[in-house]
Amino acid sequence: MKDSHGRVIDYLRISLTDRCNFRCIYCMPEEGVSPMGHDEILSLEEVERLVAIAAKHGIKSVRLTGGEPLVRKGVEDLVRALTTIEGIENISMTTNGVLLPKMAEGLKAAGLNRVNISLDTLDPEQFRQVTRVGNLEDALAGLDAALKVGFSPVKVNAVTVRRLDQDFLAFAKLSLDRPLHVRFIEYMPLGQEAGDGLAGWGKEDVISSQELLERINADALAAGMEPLAPADKNPLGWGPAKYMAFPGAQGTVGFISPLSRHFCSQCNRLRLTADGKIRPCLFSDEEYDVRAALRSGTDEQVAAVLMEALGAKPDEHHDKVGTERNMSAIGG
Ligand code: SAM
Ligand code: SF4
Repeated sequence: MKDSHGRVIDYLRISLTDRCNFRCIYCMPEEGVSPMGHDEILSLEEVERLVAIAAKHGIKSVRLTGGEPLVRKGVEDLVRALTTIEGIENISMTTNGVLLPKMAEGLKAAGLNRVNISLDTLDPEQFRQVTRVGNLEDALAGLDAALKVGFSPVKVNAVTVRRLDQDFLAFAKLSLDRPLHVRFIEYMPLGQEAGDGLAGWGKEDVISSQELLERINADALAAGMEPLAPADKNPLGWGPAKYMAFPGAQGTVGFISPLSRHFCSQCNRLRLTADGKIRPCLFSDEEYDVRAALRSGTDEQVAAVLMEALGAKPDEHHDKVGTERNMSAIGG
């Protein structure tokens, strides 16, 4: 399906829950979010039905996210069910990874192809500070488990925040010896409480991808390494990233710049929130309620909501970065 700006939309990002076993400071308040009621959340059968209808209209890839998708009961069964839907070619997941040591094997067998693991720092104390409750060791074990069971590609998403002063070269070096695709994502001051109310971080904490690349290359040269050069090929799973690699490395290093570089022209996605709203754009609070149609409507009525949301996709985000909902509710 094409939107009104001529972009092919074939990717649906599905938030399975607003709950999470972490409390990342840029994503949700310390006390967590007041959880959506059981009835508000789409059942897994409803998600499956929506994907089947969306697939008939050209959705080919789905990504499961959250909150933390691995805390949603039945996620493995959902993956298995999604693999049987005609037209769905790829099923991926964005996760904090800590449950992967337990769950990776089952998910791989169920048909999950690829995972993105969110990991913002390689320093144990800073990891605890950012996630408020997490252990770096658990996240790294999740990364190992993902590689071991053979998800491909395995990407590591690191949100860059100026005042955290992360060791970006150490991150980039994760791509040297294993087929890991490290991606740096500009911090987005999002959510009602972003900024002073949340982490105290603001727009000044956004590091542009260009600055980051220059910093990594300066650090690499200082460490006697060759700098990053444009990668020969992008890792599977197109997205809005620009990919580089160290010479001879097994993986790549990507830069995602939702704020400093407009990638809206390449946007290929719709988002589904855990409570059944279709969001045409991450940065816009406009949402289309598909839950009612899923609960009492025909497939045609469900498709009509999908098409309405498609038609409402803006051409770009026009530098609007604030949203009313936190990332954990939107799915990132
Ligand atoms: N719990 C899973 C995880 O952390 O990967 C999936 C949901 S999380 C909301 C999805 C992604 O959004 C994560 O990579 C997270 O780092 C990112 N994210 C959350 N808040 C963000 C913010 N304010 N700016 C940039 N990325 C953010
Ligand atoms: Fe949870 Fe992911 Fe948000 Fe962190 S970024 S609190 S892991 S949903």
